[in-house]
Amino acid sequence: AVEMTGVDKWYGTFQALKGIDLTVRKGEKIVICGPSGSGKSTLIRCINRLEPHDKGTITVNGIELDGSPGRTQDVRLECGMVFQQFNLFPHLTILENCMLAPRLGRGVAKEQAEAIARRYLERVRIGEQAMKYPSQLSGGQQQRVAIARALCMEPRIMLFDEPTSALDPEMIKEVLQVMEDLAAEGMTMICVTHEMGFARRVANRCVFMDKGEIVEEATAEDFFGNPDSDRLKQFLAQIL
Ligand code: ATP
Ligand code: MG
Repeated sequence: AVEMTGVDKWYGTFQALKGIDLTVRKGEKIVICGPSGSGKSTLIRCINRLEPHDKGTITVNGIELDGSPGRTQDVRLECGMVFQQFNLFPHLTILENCMLAPRLGRGVAKEQAEAIARRYLERVRIGEQAMKYPSQLSGGQQQRVAIARALCMEPRIMLFDEPTSALDPEMIKEVLQVMEDLAAEGMTMICVTHEMGFARRVANRCVFMDKGEIVEEATAEDFFGNPDSDRLKQFLAQIL
């Protein structure tokens, strides 16, 4: 579970998060949307402390992010993250990309790391590409590798930051399908995405952010079909 209480985040004199309260229980799937600059990436990056927060508390599976390196490390082992840009290492094969973190971060032996990597590459339907380099794959395939790579660390929570927004339309579906499979298996997921179909099929709750605040939180049905605040109505009018 993830618990954020009264979380503020400043970049210098600019306040990017204002009193964020958000609870995500085990197995829940949360979709976060909102306009550019509203703080979505900042929020999600605070959960694994890619960004430190300035006020309030963040607890991940009972571990409080209090700034100590040990707890930060422990939380990062709980959370897998997938970004808009796939961030694969270009000089490593797909298989090596997936073996790296388990070997370095968890001390997994080479043979076992390879077995784990092959298993997750199969799971995202890309097993046959294991010996290729990232540049030899399509964007959708690279993003599926990035998901497999995160899963190789056997995280209990997956964080997605606009995983399909850099992809051509025909590749979006294959990545969303992998995410839906993961959701069906019971993974706890926090996804920044504007993919409404995905949100409707998968999300337990949708969260709307604007100017560093959570403005509205609702089921996907209410969120898209019966929005409460004017700010969400305006936003939906733009993206739909
Ligand atoms: P987008 O939809 O464009 O990805 P976002 O909702 O993810 O936007 P954030 O990236 O969280 O928004 O940024 C929130 C605000 O904080 C923006 O105004 C941004 O300019 C600012 N910001 C983000 N990162 C930094 C940084 N490292 N230093 C200074 N300001 C930052
Ligand atoms: Mg962002």
